[in-house]
Parts: sequence; structure tokens; C-alpha cells
Amino acid sequence: MNTLQSPSFQGNLYLPKYVYHGTLRKFIPGLYERLLDDSWWRKTDRDFGAGFYTTISFRQAAKWAVKAALDSMKTDFSEAVVLKIRVDADQFPHFSDCLVFLGDSNPEWARFIVDHRLDCRDDGFDPCSHHPAIIIGQMADNKMEKVHDEYYKSEIEIKGNDKYEWYYNRMTQNQEGHHLDSLDLGNQICFSDPGLNEMLRIEKFYVLDEGTKEWIEYG
Ligand SMILES: [Zn+2]
Repeated sequence: MNTLQSPSFQGNLYLPKYVYHGTLRKFIPGLYERLLDDSWWRKTDRDFGAGFYTTISFRQAAKWAVKAALDSMKTDFSEAVVLKIRVDADQFPHFSDCLVFLGDSNPEWARFIVDHRLDCRDDGFDPCSHHPAIIIGQMADNKMEKVHDEYYKSEIEIKGNDKYEWYYNRMTQNQEGHHLDSLDLGNQICFSDPGLNEMLRIEKFYVLDEGTKEWIEYG
């Protein structure tokens, strides 16, 4: 992977006070035991590599949870759940191992995602020489799995840097081919270092009532 070139940051970085995580009810006990447990993390096919994915948007986390619940119907159904997590970064005042993509999506962001989507392996291989502990940036569009399939099935050979451009265009377009800006794409915060477990605490959680389609608060 090419090294990302960026000026070193010298200001203050304030993390959000709360983040949300979409999951399934059956995972609640384990998550209460430990939020950042890397033995649970899927190592491949993630935008920012293996990690615990959160967002500042309840609505976005709810979408992830509902999708996971739908997928769980194929095997062992579990209800959609959204965790509200308090972020207490005060205990880590000198913490700076973050990679942050600001503003509109850009080629560096696309490169980071493509390298992690294509190169991360089940044996734990990651394309970074040092994978950041926290990564903040836009989500690739939801249809990423389709894009990925298209890439692998493509009869046109996409080599070298062209693959990044190819992915970038598809990752940031909707079905009608319109460009999606970073507000359309939404934002995610990935915690990749289990050592940051103490930074996060579950404040409460919400379970989707399948009958009324309302989110019921617990905790
Ligand atoms: Zn990495």
C-alpha cells in the first residue's frame, strides 16, 4: 500500500460524546462484557479493516442493525439492536493514533478503503505498515458488495492506480449514477485497537419491536 501523505496534526481532536453501533440482540451479553474484542471482528470486506464500527447517527446504526437482523433470518433470527455508547476520551489525553478523512470523499479515502477491502485476509494480514487505532471517515456506499463483485467479475482488466479511480467512481455514486457527497454517504468511526476498550461504555440500548416497528429503550 502506498503511504498516505498528510501533514502531522497539531491541534485538538474531540471525539463525539456518544456513538451508536448496530448489532443483534444475541450479541448484547458479550458486548457488555467487552466492547472492543477483536476476536469478534470480521477481518475481511470492511471499509477500514477489522474493527468495531460506530456512527454518530442513530438512524445509520439502525439501518445496519436491521440489515443484520434480516440476514440472521437465514440462520438463527435475532432482533435488531442499537447500542448507545458513551465515549470517554479524557482518560487518553495524549491519544493521537487517528486517521481522519474530512470533507468530501477523496482519492486517499478511496485508496484506504480499496486496499482494506481487497487486501485484508482472514489470517489477520492488513495492508498498513501501522493500522491506525481510530479511523473516521465517510462510508462507502451501501452497495459496496455489489461493486466488489462487479470488480472481480469484470472482463476488463483494471490494473494499478486505475482500480482506485474505478472504485472511487462507483463507491460514490447512487444507482442513477449521481455523485454522492460526504453527507449523503454518512460517517463512520472505527475503533481498531482493543486497548481502547476503557474509552467506551454502553449507556443504553434499543431493540426493534418487530410488531410495532418501534425502538424500545433498555438499560
Ligand atoms: Zn490497515
